[in-house]
Amino acid sequence: MEDNQNIRLNQNIHFCASCKSENIQKLALAYMSGSSQTKGVGLGVGIGGSIGLGAGMGTNQTLLSNMVAPPKITSPFVGALGIWFLAFFIYTALAVSMPQNMNILSSLLVVIAFVATFWPPIKFYRYLTAKNKTLMEEYNKKYICLRCGNIFKLD
Ligand SMILES: [Zn+2]
Repeated sequence: MEDNQNIRLNQNIHFCASCKSENIQKLALAYMSGSSQTKGVGLGVGIGGSIGLGAGMGTNQTLLSNMVAPPKITSPFVGALGIWFLAFFIYTALAVSMPQNMNILSSLLVVIAFVATFWPPIKFYRYLTAKNKTLMEEYNKKYICLRCGNIFKLD
């Protein structure tokens, strides 16, 4: 038994911190297998013929699915586009308030201001990309214990 323990440690097998079970699974994998289990539940409902039980099982399945679901990711492109519309709106408001008889300098300023509207969306795009990467890295470190449902992080 003592040797067995050592071998396990050498193989770097992880345990659930709360119930010491080895029956743990990556959240990402649990999420994928969860979607196939849902079909099984549907079939079970048909055989059982109990709608009440079926609904309850369905809810539990959804709950588990939500627990192991990947983080909500904002598309960097959509986010950046939103910021650009905002910047462009401010730009338009400023450009409209410019005097009608523009000299070369103020025309140049308008062009520069237009180019500048792309700066915040680019920054935001980079920010979202980095944030999404971190979120997914954190998610990929997370495991669920299939025995007690404990969710924990392993590095
Ligand atoms: Zn556990």
